Amino acid sequence: MSDATPRSTEPPPADRGSPGVRSRALMARARTLLPGGVSSPVRAHSAVGGEPLVIASGSGALVTDVDGREYVDYVCSWGPLILGHAHPAVVEAVREAAGRGTSFGAPSEPEIALAERVVEAVPSVELVRFVSSGTEATMSAIRLARAATGRDLVLKFEGCYHGHADGLLASAGSGIATLGLPDSPGVPAAVAAQTLVVPYNDLAAAEAALAAHSGRVACVIVEPVAANMGVVPPAPEFLAGLRAACDRTGALLLFDEVMTSRLSPGGIQAILGITPDLTTLGKYIGGGMSFGAFGGRADIMSRFDPRRADSLPHAGTFNNNILTMSAGVVGMEQVYTPDVAVKLNAFGDRLRQRLNAITRDKGLAMQFTGLGSMLSVHFVKGPVRTPRDAKKGNKDLGELFFLDLLARGIYIARRGMMALSLPLTEADGDALVAAVEEFVSSRRSLLG
Ligand code: PLP
Repeated sequence: MSDATPRSTEPPPADRGSPGVRSRALMARARTLLPGGVSSPVRAHSAVGGEPLVIASGSGALVTDVDGREYVDYVCSWGPLILGHAHPAVVEAVREAAGRGTSFGAPSEPEIALAERVVEAVPSVELVRFVSSGTEATMSAIRLARAATGRDLVLKFEGCYHGHADGLLASAGSGIATLGLPDSPGVPAAVAAQTLVVPYNDLAAAEAALAAHSGRVACVIVEPVAANMGVVPPAPEFLAGLRAACDRTGALLLFDEVMTSRLSPGGIQAILGITPDLTTLGKYIGGGMSFGAFGGRADIMSRFDPRRADSLPHAGTFNNNILTMSAGVVGMEQVYTPDVAVKLNAFGDRLRQRLNAITRDKGLAMQFTGLGSMLSVHFVKGPVRTPRDAKKGNKDLGELFFLDLLARGIYIARRGMMALSLPLTEADGDALVAAVEEFVSSRRSLLG
């Protein structure tokens, strides 16, 4: 986090938070061109007059919409903008790299440098392969796990999101939905049947599924913090228990650190000292550019070595594009260093405690979960240990909170998630605390 000067003292426009004239006009155009006017459902704000704000630019911790209203950004493009928007070192690296060519479809020095940084930092990663998104990373890592073990089944956890590959959207007819959706239309039942789903933070259920499908589970894939369903941290012993269960049964342990890699340059595994066999990475490691990677034990990853007669197929035109590789190197080498990560997480932990002092600790049906630089609001009273607990939250209150914050110039994800970035200031933290205090006093009767 930054010591930068406080934000502008200009009075905000009275209608900040609702889409302005330009936003509305652009979305009207967008709806004739893109399904629903958006490129992903999470970009739609059905509550805000049915329309999202159209963002024109970002700088540091701020984004500005096309109508000129500024917001402190806690969405951070759903995680990756941990360095803040348009970080000068990243902009310079990208500008410099672009002048020399953006993609060659051949090995390059920035790619090797970024691979060095990742292998040095992430304990489980002895060899790494770059891709363009987290979805590709998990898809490829699972194919590798299947090839390495000769087994087909994948065990995942309810509420954990691993991208939108077919098998990872499915719930194997268990009736347990991923991301709150029913089994996705378009995913063949035969594909869904390869995915077992058990509740997050339920070690006994995972062990039982491994026992019931003995010798058939290729890998256990887990978001070490269930970020996408409410930033639910792992129960003590959950991840270590999965490690042990995998060791006993021969399944590979796959940490999907696409989101949690922001908790330290070596991901959450470096903090917890639990080493999976395979790891997927994404989001911030590309310095804010499209990015994904997977890596792990050299004996497994070397199955992708094209010099081998039995090498596994894998490809991707932009896998090592120069812009991403260059931005990533600068981010990891110059900006998001280990001590900076510690400071940002401490800021996040303090902020979460302050927010909970206003809400949960007073017995209200509102609380904040999280770990370090990742947090989320929940409108529930009891403990939130699983994404299923998180889903019990009052959605209308969530919507109201989102809109109230937006009107105060604070932009969080509609589903309550907040990703902290380095340029946030103590004053930004104070403003969020003040906004929550105001919400609690004005909506007190709704909070139980
Ligand atoms: N895995 C996790 C844990 C994620 O949070 C996401 C995206 O939010 C993905 C995978 C998919 O990454 P991408 O959106 O880059 O495909």
